[in-house]
Amino acid sequence: MDSTDQLRETSRRIRKHLVRMHRRGSHFGSAMSIADILTVLFFRVMNIPSPGDPDRDRFILSKGHAASALYATLATKKFFDESVLERYLHDGECLYGHPVAKSLPGVEVSSGSLGHGLAIGVGLALAAKNDGKSYRVFVLMGDGEIQEGSVWETAILADRLRLDNLIAIIDANNLQGFDRVENIQPISTFRRKWEAFGWGVEEVDGHDHAALLEAFGRVPFRPGAPSVIVARTVKGKGVAEMEGRFESHYLSVPADRVEDWLREIDEKS
Ligand SMILES: [Mg+2]
Repeated sequence: MDSTDQLRETSRRIRKHLVRMHRRGSHFGSAMSIADILTVLFFRVMNIPSPGDPDRDRFILSKGHAASALYATLATKKFFDESVLERYLHDGECLYGHPVAKSLPGVEVSSGSLGHGLAIGVGLALAAKNDGKSYRVFVLMGDGEIQEGSVWETAILADRLRLDNLIAIIDANNLQGFDRVENIQPISTFRRKWEAFGWGVEEVDGHDHAALLEAFGRVPFRPGAPSVIVARTVKGKGVAEMEGRFESHYLSVPADRVEDWLREIDEKS
């Protein structure tokens, strides 16, 4: 099994966890959208010897409503037992619908109020510089999320501070809460906006493990500048009847579809 075969198998495992978990709650499509990005980050790109290692790379899921994908990835990474995922959204348990800092090994910050994760990332990246540490900070945002003004205030600051250890990823699935992103704020202009704010920018297929690996391997894209990867994705990726559907933001997985969807994920290459 070569490197990308292993990554595909890992993504399948994460997506199958998500199908089982999302018999409860919403945001199934949001979570499926980022499974490949999280796989590549946690299994190849980021250096995390252990969740408490002071020199570890940091990951912030700014689109916190996709918390299930983070939990499924951390469990697949063996930061905690995969059986813990069965407690997703159960009363009295710590697998909340949005991440809560330190609720589980590997959950770095509380998130879900959109537009805040990048600012936290700037703080962590600046701390690394001030402390002479070499760790990097990765922040995953939604494509609807970057309409928040706080994102652009932070983008200006990250450029001024020359935070080349900060890498933002945009989950560009062209869907947000109530419409297509292109109907609200066209995503075709992402590249030139980020470039205008001083960032190095690359666009990549967010479901192509090899392409993601290649892009992450080249950061920083511009010397001394923060980087952003616009990852083109499909909401609900992995289950054909949910792919690209706005409804996947809100619907739970129907109990009578679980086995079919698990089989479908297994059969896809
Ligand atoms: Mg989106």
